Amino acid sequence: MPDTRHAPLDALPRTAGGARVWAALGGAGLLTGAYRDGEVRSGIDPEGLAALLTAVDARFSIASTLSVSVQLATALPVLAAGRTPVARRALDRARTGRATVALAATDVTAGTDLTALRTQVRIEDDGLEVTGGKTWIANTTTAEHFLTLARHRPGRHFTHFTWVLVPADAPGVTVRPADSALFADSGVGHVTFDGVRLGRDHLLGRVGFGLPLFARHIGTERLAGAQWGVALCRRVLADTRRHLTGRAHGDRTLWDLDPVRQRFAACLVRVRELDALVAQLQEPVALHHDATAAATLKAAAGSAVNHVLTECGQLWGAAGFTTGGIQEVRAQAALFGIGGGATEVVLGTLADAADSVLADLAAPGTAP
Ligand SMILES: Cc1cc2nc3c(=O)[nH]c(=O)nc-3n(C[C@H](O)[C@H](O)[C@H](O)COP(=O)(O)OP(=O)(O)OC[C@H]3O[C@@H](n4cnc5c(N)ncnc54)[C@H](O)[C@@H]3O)c2cc1C
Repeated sequence: MPDTRHAPLDALPRTAGGARVWAALGGAGLLTGAYRDGEVRSGIDPEGLAALLTAVDARFSIASTLSVSVQLATALPVLAAGRTPVARRALDRARTGRATVALAATDVTAGTDLTALRTQVRIEDDGLEVTGGKTWIANTTTAEHFLTLARHRPGRHFTHFTWVLVPADAPGVTVRPADSALFADSGVGHVTFDGVRLGRDHLLGRVGFGLPLFARHIGTERLAGAQWGVALCRRVLADTRRHLTGRAHGDRTLWDLDPVRQRFAACLVRVRELDALVAQLQEPVALHHDATAAATLKAAAGSAVNHVLTECGQLWGAAGFTTGGIQEVRAQAALFGIGGGATEVVLGTLADAADSVLADLAAPGTAP
């Protein structure tokens, strides 16, 4: 039986940008499928999240899927930590597709060095003032709110950071699109906050709990990336196989060449490995916020997607360079090794947990 759950998406053109896809998903009541019992506050439902990402990936660009993925896996769960009417209203509008929300963590300073971020929030008795800037944020050009990670104290201690919900139309907020044809459909851009004055009800979660809240929910973004990686690799491999079986070579086709088949089969191994890892680690990430499991998924997805897309790009030959073809997808998919934590950074997390990973491997069946 064909899966008709996501049929409302079929009314959109394949070129639809992330905000349009989000609105269609929300309007059809499909966004809540990513959460347990349909409640954002109850946490991610891994199967529901994977089904949504697979449906979006099958129909739209990598950039549009990125826009949806960041909101589903991280922005909405962080927003759900807010208890004020302002936060509740923003969540309600986002989960019904009436608004998009940007998750603004990466700062004008290096994204991989998050505790060096400069954007600051001054917390006073009668309100807040936000000053600083965020770069390369998905959904910037379309967002109604910026979930902004800011420092309320100097220094790098993990209790010095707090989330602030900044309305995009507040005086002092300036948005500009990033110079990126590859990711324009994600609404990616840069935002500056120039002495933005807000009520204290725009603080999100407890003061000083910004980084723990981020750490808790970046794990689900890493899970989402791995689930999406499986869907993307499967789709690209299916397209590539169709191309190879139809491409004449001598009396037969490219698919009949043993070296080509072996190369393709090695890609199948990589995607099956990633799929198995997702199956093993999705519950620990979604239910227990296991940071080591999330880092493992992120590192594996970055490597597998890069391998599969590079190999498939080669196998398409010149035909891979058509507009919207595999070579463009490959360039966009390089984000799997950078966005939401560069591969090197998550490998560092994994190295820190080497003892526990090795202990898990010594007790098969009990890990993690
Ligand atoms: C299309 C797009 C959408 C994005 N969306 C969002 C979003 O919605 N929200 C958000 O907050 N951010 C977003 N980002 C930013 C993204 O999360 C950052 O790009 C990422 O965290 C890496 O930070 P950076 O680009 O500043 O890399 P840099 O810090 O400049 O690092 C560059 C490279 O240096 C190397 N490197 C860095 N640190 C180390 C280390 N410790 N060890 C070894 N090597 C290292 C790595 O190879 C790394 O890729 C987006 C980025 C893009 C391109």
